[in-house]
Amino acid sequence: MITVELRALQDVVRQFANDVIAPVIAKHYEDCTFPYEVISKIGDLGLFGLPFSEEYGGGGGDYFALCLVLEEIARVDSSVAITLEAAVSLGAMPIYKFGTEEQKQEWLPQLSSGRMIGAFGLTEPEAGSDAGGTKTTARLEGGEWLINGSKSFITNSGTDITGLITVTAVTGTLPNGGKEISTIIVPAGTPGLIVAPKYSKVGWNASDTHELAFSDVRVPESNLLGIRGQGFAQFLRILDEGRIAIAALSVGLAQGCLDESLKYANTRMAFGRTIGTNQSIAFKIADMEVRSHTARLAYYDAAARMLRGEDFKRHAAIAKLYASEIAVTNAREATQIHGGYGYMNEYPVARMWRDSKILEIGEGTSEVQRMLIARDLGVRAS
Ligand SMILES: Cc1cc2nc3c(=O)[nH]c(=O)nc-3n(C[C@H](O)[C@H](O)[C@H](O)COP(=O)(O)OP(=O)(O)OC[C@H]3O[C@@H](n4cnc5c(N)ncnc54)[C@H](O)[C@@H]3O)c2cc1C
Repeated sequence: MITVELRALQDVVRQFANDVIAPVIAKHYEDCTFPYEVISKIGDLGLFGLPFSEEYGGGGGDYFALCLVLEEIARVDSSVAITLEAAVSLGAMPIYKFGTEEQKQEWLPQLSSGRMIGAFGLTEPEAGSDAGGTKTTARLEGGEWLINGSKSFITNSGTDITGLITVTAVTGTLPNGGKEISTIIVPAGTPGLIVAPKYSKVGWNASDTHELAFSDVRVPESNLLGIRGQGFAQFLRILDEGRIAIAALSVGLAQGCLDESLKYANTRMAFGRTIGTNQSIAFKIADMEVRSHTARLAYYDAAARMLRGEDFKRHAAIAKLYASEIAVTNAREATQIHGGYGYMNEYPVARMWRDSKILEIGEGTSEVQRMLIARDLGVRAS
């Protein structure tokens, strides 16, 4: 349900995306540079603290408000949207949800301001979809956690304003012989934390992604996030919520493809008339609208279930799966509608096409979403 306040928030962010992000983002994308000036202005708007309570410098909003914001930003650019998504939903949210009062007081006001961003280090070179395969270890030694291992593809982990990385690590063995996984806060700049040069990526080129190595990294015992051994449950919860955010981001990209295609179809001339007067182009545009609209309903529904305190796991997976796949389809169709210009990086749809594929991979691949949905329906595919 979109209230008057949420509609006003959408309008502000839409204007911001068009006036502040759109003019500068293509250059950042081409140069693979992090858009610090844009991120700082997003901080000034209060969007990094949107779903957190005011006592921690937050905006007192909720997760649905964050999703609406992500959709509006991704309608113009996905690198900026994923930077905000990862900072709020992956970087700050674990502390907000599971942190001690001391940890919240220490980190959340800075993270809410956007002057500092956080990252979430779950994926490893040999543990992605199978995140339980974590090999990074943390053992207590003299009142400190001694961390060794590595993490792959970590968003927001190497910027000048990165303040911390929450890291999952094996902290022991469970009575059943399984791994005890816990989450530990590692402040940026801790000796032994090695941030590799940023990846060369297909898309999201103005966002920051690095491999991390932990070589005898020492942090205080009090940096444990929540209860020891709860790391697995914590990241499952964070990913369930994060999937709704990625669905919103995907809808934004799908809608951006539609916006650009509509403009182009009504102005590009071929055979003496605008290309949109051809039914095949008009139908592509109608289908893009059907897909965007349906995916939007799916993420609204998942967010509503979550905010009502209901089980939302399956619906978050449905929203993420459907929205990411239709984003890829809309991006492909938008490029087709733009013809040769759609293959030129100066056109936003080219960027959207390159940015779309990762949506089917990050925060749980499409296969993982299908596994979750099938399992929730009672089918245990092997
Ligand atoms: C740009 C970018 C940013 C990212 N940011 C972060 C971040 O901030 N923090 C973080 O922790 N991670 C991050 N990731 C990692 C991302 O979440 C993982 O890449 C993703 O979960 C997939 O893991 P993987 O790459 O190891 O693929 P794999 O798990 O190796 O999967 C490879 C393929 O096998 C399929 N597969 C695997 N198991 C099964 C199965 N049982 N049944 C059927 N198919 C299966 C997968 O669906 C996929 O198609 C990021 C990745 C990228 C590319």
